[in-house]
Amino acid sequence: MVGEAAVSRGLLERLAEGPVLGDGGYLLEMEKRGYVRAGPFTPEVSLTDPEALAQLHREFLRAGAEVLQALTFYASEDKLATVGLADKVDDINRAAVRIARDVAGDDALVAGNLSLTWVYDPKDPASAGRVRAMFDRQLEVMMDEGIDLVIGETYSWLGEALIAQERAARTGLPTVITMSFEKEPRAYEGDPPADCARKLRDAGADVVGVNCLRDPERTLPIAAEMRAAVDGFVACQPVAFRTTDQEPDFTASPAFPFALDPLQLPRQAMGAFAARARDLGIEYIGSCCGSVAGHVKAMAQALGKIPLQEGDWRVDYDRPMSAYEYYGHAEREIPPS
Ligand code: ZN
Repeated sequence: MVGEAAVSRGLLERLAEGPVLGDGGYLLEMEKRGYVRAGPFTPEVSLTDPEALAQLHREFLRAGAEVLQALTFYASEDKLATVGLADKVDDINRAAVRIARDVAGDDALVAGNLSLTWVYDPKDPASAGRVRAMFDRQLEVMMDEGIDLVIGETYSWLGEALIAQERAARTGLPTVITMSFEKEPRAYEGDPPADCARKLRDAGADVVGVNCLRDPERTLPIAAEMRAAVDGFVACQPVAFRTTDQEPDFTASPAFPFALDPLQLPRQAMGAFAARARDLGIEYIGSCCGSVAGHVKAMAQALGKIPLQEGDWRVDYDRPMSAYEYYGHAEREIPPS
């Protein structure tokens, strides 16, 4: 069976053969569609509107994503308690993995997702134990439902990222651990990206990298620094919003979260990003907040994972039968690389 053969190839085998394409952003898009509350951005949509979440997974899969992240971001106990859902931790994690698994079928890998908890505090020794317990609870449910890898993401504290790696490693599954950098490209502890990458790799992370907050232009140099620092695989998953050198973190912008629309990048920009990431030797190429199916599709096309042209089309500029022919647009449809 081709399908079984395809899905039996795990993340590390795929990465060894060439770039793997991740998916896009979930919570902000679900909020735009009316299924998630802006502000807390908690992921109870897996219980309240499972079909809406399944549809976004389907869109990413159809666009060429090879990994679907279960929407377990912020599905940790203390975070869910802020919206009165502390007793739904298991249900939300279970439903999220089940929904991603159903959509992925044999066509994509499913990642269990661990995110920042907002609880980790190096000045409070008890906090590390609390973070461990919360990650373990999520991982137990995820493993019970069946995941193919663990993605730990959006950590500003390197210490919290290292805890995510420590707990995820106990599953025996491949791990992808990525840092996020706010105004300065430093972990909260002060470690530059290269040191973060080295320490996470030394801790056993199969893939280390950077995700969220920054646009591709302000993320790629960080990924390149990590690339130079480690021999293992590197991941890069920037946002699809335009940021600036003065304000590289889109969540710090006054436009967050309700006026981001004009800052959303065109899909070709994400296609160009994917090609640049590949050329830098980045193996796990994905995207984060603001990246929807059109962006992922442009990335898949730029990486040669899906064709630029979808079926036959008789083009005749002398006798146009489309605006593309009439205005001579057709060649611009090919994403820049
Ligand atoms: Zn993000």
